[in-house]
Parts: sequence; structure tokens; C-alpha cells
Amino acid sequence: MHWADVLADELLKENKKHVLATGITPSGPIHIGNMREILTSDSVYRSVLNKGGDAELIYVADDFDPLRKVYPYLPKTYEKYVGMPISDIPCPCGKHKSYADHYLISFLNALKEIGVKPKVYRANKMYKNGDFNQAIQTALDNTDKIKDIIQKISKRELPKGWIPFNIRCDKCKKMTLSKAVLYEYPKIEYTCDCGYEGDVDIRKGGVGKLPWRVDWPARWKMLGVTFEPFGKDLGTVGGARDTGEKIVEEVYDYPAPKYAVYEFIMLKGKGAMHSSKGTALSAEEMLDMTPPEVLRFLIVNNQPNKHIVFDSGLGLLNLVDEFDKEERVYYGKEEVIKGMKDLKKTYELSQPYGIPESIPFQLPYRHLVTLIQIGESWNEVKKILLRTNQIPKDLSPYDEKHLNQRAEHARFWLDNFAPDMVKFKVKKKIPKVSLTKEQNKFLSSFIEKISSIKWEAENIHNAVYSISENEKIPIKIAFQAIYQIILGQEKGPRAGYFLSNLDKDFVLKRVKEAIK
Ligand SMILES: [Zn+2]
Ligand SMILES: [Zn+2]
Repeated sequence: MHWADVLADELLKENKKHVLATGITPSGPIHIGNMREILTSDSVYRSVLNKGGDAELIYVADDFDPLRKVYPYLPKTYEKYVGMPISDIPCPCGKHKSYADHYLISFLNALKEIGVKPKVYRANKMYKNGDFNQAIQTALDNTDKIKDIIQKISKRELPKGWIPFNIRCDKCKKMTLSKAVLYEYPKIEYTCDCGYEGDVDIRKGGVGKLPWRVDWPARWKMLGVTFEPFGKDLGTVGGARDTGEKIVEEVYDYPAPKYAVYEFIMLKGKGAMHSSKGTALSAEEMLDMTPPEVLRFLIVNNQPNKHIVFDSGLGLLNLVDEFDKEERVYYGKEEVIKGMKDLKKTYELSQPYGIPESIPFQLPYRHLVTLIQIGESWNEVKKILLRTNQIPKDLSPYDEKHLNQRAEHARFWLDNFAPDMVKFKVKKKIPKVSLTKEQNKFLSSFIEKISSIKWEAENIHNAVYSISENEKIPIKIAFQAIYQIILGQEKGPRAGYFLSNLDKDFVLKRVKEAIK
């Protein structure tokens, strides 16, 4: 059984509305691990609905969290904001409402493309609206109990006078510098390292925040969460999940949600991804270079506890091929092969916008990667596809949209991540080349041969090989001649396929010019 179904069955043992949560602190570029978290929740959510259960998917953005430090990707001037809630700090680019929005908004938009539609909660609004007030009071009334739980389970000593509440100083607006002096409902007297002394009324929203280890369990109860996956960094012994479980049960009188621990996504050659270190790849970039159904496939095809290696180089092309093969098998066009687990469910969960009734039109992804480097716009690519009969004249709007979407992802990949060996540009004028005698001879024969053949990949391919054999010219030398005169480089995409997509007259003219 697919892992999402196993987890859904576990939830459905209880006949009630299930709330599947996922969340993030948008304090920097959102990392690809978060993509895994949200797709893990979404998969279980879909499985619960599929089995007739009642469920909701929610996304909590903890934008009331304070800025921890000036991260490497921030200007030095941000020093003065350290300690303030990220929803109250200006955005680094000037185009967003806040620092938090700067990182959050584009990620939320990206979720639409991968077909995830959660209900979004913003912690800063919840705190400021007073939604947390009851939870704060309960925490403060149970200060000793909570302190005890945290100290015992995390084996960490908390300072004398610690309370489960970070007061936001009225003067400096920071949440990290104040110390409580006295709590007497509804007020907390405090002193702050900035020199200010005052008090806050906890019945007013937004005067402070529960520390993370309390905030998380308080949220489970408030939102009725029954499932929430978390990264293995939070699942360590004595970690926030361990203390949260105890706090939610003993302080908030609510059963701890079920969960899945997910492993990191490693970037090939780069190790695990951490946003706080500002590591190379963000979740949005991962999506921008990967077609959404393929990105979902990567995640749903792997058990959450198995780490995933994401290869942003040529491996990405193999991943797309792997998905396309599964698609052909799903629609009965090919036989199942070894290693395809839970194929039906995996394919269905990979679909961002519903399961197509019949197999979507497939064009090998590598071909698409070649084509978009020949045609500059989708219209040009479409013209080539029609001229060469690679797509039918009556291609459905759905299939065209799908191909076009893939072309856009491939283009982003080419512009930002693809290795040089797959990149090329058709030169509008003949580049400066010095061909050897052999190559001149090859091209002369080539022009004779291709003038009479039907302009198709296989014919061109065979023509090159037969000339090479007859004239005893090494095939590599022959290919180099073709690439040099058209691309100005010694390597290029598979010659037969590549040339067949160019206009035949253009190629003939170019070869003639070259051997002049
Ligand atoms: Zn911005
Ligand atoms: Zn202060």
C-alpha cells in the first residue's frame, strides 16, 4: 500500500474531521525540505478525502517569529531589526508589505502551480487578533509544569524566572531582550535590556509570543490539528516534537497529532538543504526548473523516511523520463517494470490538477530541451512541431498548455542550472570555422546525399553514418563538422533529431557556404 494510504488509514480510525497541518517560518528563502513537508501533508490529505473522510489542509506561516540574526543574504543594516517579528520588518526588496511577505508570497503562489490549496493562517494576525490569548493564559498558569517538561525531556536548564512567554518590549519592539519580573493575571511586569521597564496586559493581542516549544502544541489544540509531518531535525530525542507531545497532552488537554518524520532532500553534490545557512537552492527554484507533476512524483514516489537526492543537472532529465514512463504504464501503453511501487496511487498523487481521462500527449523531454533552443518562443517551437509532424494538427488545448508549461520549466532549467554540454545556439550567420580536408569531404558528400532524402531524423542519422563509413571518416569528425558550421561548437544535441527540426533549406545553404 502507498505510504499516504497507510497514514490516511491510521487517521481514519477516528471518525472525525481531520486537520492536516504544515507550516513554516518565512525568515529566508523557503527551502526544498518545506516542499517535501507540504507535499507529504497534501498526499495524506488527498488520501483521506479519497477514502471518504472529512479533512482540511492548513498552512501556518509563523510570521510573528522574531528575526534571529542578520543572515548572509541580508544587508548589514538589518542588524537593528534582529529580535523584531518578521511581519513587522521591512521587506528587503521594497516591493512587499513586510520581510515575511517577501519570502512567503511567492512561495504561496508557487503552491498553486503544484496544486496544493491549503487554508493559510498567519501567526502574526492570530497573535494580534488575540486568538492565542487563552493559550497564553493557560501556559502562564502552568509555568512550572511546562518548565519541568522542557527541562526533563530536552535536558536543558531554563533560567530562573523563566516563563513560557516572550514579551515584546513596548519601547524597542524586540521580543528577545525582555525578562519577566512578575506575572499576576492579566499583567506581566518586565525589564528589557534596552533599559525600558514596563508591563503588558496579556488580554491584548500581540504583546508577545509563546516560545516555539509551547507555540507549536498550543497551535495543535487551537486549530484542531490531527496530523502534521516534521523534518527529522525536529524529531530528535528531546526535540520540539517530544516536548510538544507532553505539553499538548498535559497542559492543553488535547491528543498529540499523528505524524510522519520526513528526511531531508539533498542537492546532488551539495548535501542537505538548510535555509538558515542560505544554501543554494530554494523551493521555488526547484519548482521553476521541474514540471509540477514531476516534482510531486519525486516526493510521493519516496517514503517520507527515505532521503531524496535531487539532481539539478542531467539527473533532472532522467527524472522526467521516469515520470513519463510511469504515465505510459498507468494508461496501459507499456508494461510495468521492476521498481515501480504503488504505481496507480503514485501517479494519481503526482497530478497537480486532477487525473486526465486519457494519457496526455507525450513529447520526449530531451527533445523539448533541444527544440526550445531552436525556437525562441512557444509559437516558434509549435511551428517546428507541426512542420515535422511531432504533434498532431488537432492537438487539444489541454495538451498544448501542458507542453508549453513543460517548455517553460525546461527554459528556466537551461538558463540557470543545466550543464553547458546540453546548451547550444543556432548561429544566424556561419561562424568562423576552419574545417579539415576530411570534414570538407564529408560535407560535400553530405550535401549530395541529403538533397534527395526525406528530411526526417532517422534518414539524416543514417546518411551521416553511411558517408562516414564509405569515406572512412571517423563519425566524431563528421559530427564535429556539422556542429561547428551550425552552432560554432564541437558538440551538440543528437544530430539526426536536431537537424530534422531545422529548416532543410537553411541547412543546405549553410553547408554550401561552409565548403565554398
Ligand atoms: Zn520584497
Ligand atoms: Zn526594549
